[in-house]
Amino acid sequence: MRHGQGGGRNGDPRGSGRSAGAPADQATVRRSNLSLVLRHVSEHGSRSRSLVAAETGLNKTTVTSLVGELVARGLIKEIGPQHAGAVGRPGLALALDGSGVGALGIEVNVDYIAAFATDVANRVLIDRRVGFDAMGSGPDRSLDELAGTIREAVSDLAAFGVTLAGITVAVPGLIDTSTGTVEVAPNLGWYGVPVAERLSAPDIAPDVPITVDNDANLAALAEFTTGVATGTPDLVYLTGEVGVGGGVIAGGRLLGGADGFAGEVGHVMVDPSGERCGCGRIGCWETKVGLAALVRMVTPERAYGVGDGVVRDPEERLAEIELRQAAGDRRVGEAITEVGRWLGRGSTTLVNLFNPRVIVLGGYFARLARQIIPVAQAELARLGVAGSAARCSFVASDLGFGAASRGAAGVVVERVLSDPTIIGIRRITPSNPEGDADRMPPNVLPLN
Ligand SMILES: [Zn+2]
Repeated sequence: MRHGQGGGRNGDPRGSGRSAGAPADQATVRRSNLSLVLRHVSEHGSRSRSLVAAETGLNKTTVTSLVGELVARGLIKEIGPQHAGAVGRPGLALALDGSGVGALGIEVNVDYIAAFATDVANRVLIDRRVGFDAMGSGPDRSLDELAGTIREAVSDLAAFGVTLAGITVAVPGLIDTSTGTVEVAPNLGWYGVPVAERLSAPDIAPDVPITVDNDANLAALAEFTTGVATGTPDLVYLTGEVGVGGGVIAGGRLLGGADGFAGEVGHVMVDPSGERCGCGRIGCWETKVGLAALVRMVTPERAYGVGDGVVRDPEERLAEIELRQAAGDRRVGEAITEVGRWLGRGSTTLVNLFNPRVIVLGGYFARLARQIIPVAQAELARLGVAGSAARCSFVASDLGFGAASRGAAGVVVERVLSDPTIIGIRRITPSNPEGDADRMPPNVLPLN
């Protein structure tokens, strides 16, 4: 199955779609049709019921009934009237609503916690990041901190009149997504941590489903749906944090692998005589290109784990590095070139394996892209087996350190689009309000 060819937000790149072949009962058909109509309006913009019927192949009576339910669930609203070339009586247009339904993405990484929330119509409600020493704090204190972040977000969203449909937590490690357990997160020092279970405590975000996923996979989804490489069906995302994570989109779908562990590019061994990695092995790629490696080369006295104990957000560390470079410290330029060289070498393997059109550089790589990309691109051209025939470009992400939490919120929105029945019925509406002026909302929005 290939989704997303040439289109940005269509399809379900996570592949949580319908299973083929099973006999569908009435409720399943209804759910799938609700999803079809909601997704159609979400992707194609406001339009009349008649147009939705014509474009989806559903009959008009069915569409009217489905829309009634989606309005009652607060996911579709009526605006209008819609003319748009239609013959005959203009009807009210349908538009994506979801303003009362929120999606929360949380990321815990080595040195920060990020929170990002949108409503189902992708209006951004929360976007923040705070420095936090998750590496030094251990899982228990980190989970307490995450719980606090979630409580604060839930309370802020309640002030917006938004109820959460779900929470996804991004963690830099290997995740058993079926249970929300972090199996291994080398740079956090977490092993077998039941994150979803711990954060599902009744005093945190009661009745809100919590899932856990790999940070780079979630960031790759964000890049695919809203980032610089939107809709590029074959892309690799690399995030430069203390460690290095990867997410592979192949044929418009996130590559998960048998256990969902695919994309752990940071721990591909590139130098058997290199440094010891956070995972315990020698010479992993991230020991060459992770932010910890750059910091070690530029400011050994401030290296992770040996410094003054002050927690620094990665942006602060980068600002410090850039200041040194501006002040004429030649080690900085040399170290960045070294990172670029190793980035190109390691990416050669990815290009040989996956033939991506684009490698999106996220995290700290994006901030130093102007210096890193030319070096990495030259190395890739020199070493890739397909050479320039592979036509793969490095591109800097513009989502910064927020990509994973953004992707995490996106997964929740995607779940609502796939199954609108997870959102409760809020309002009783007439079964067929079309053309009924009394039912029009008080503030009629312009069509666009
Ligand atoms: Zn490693």
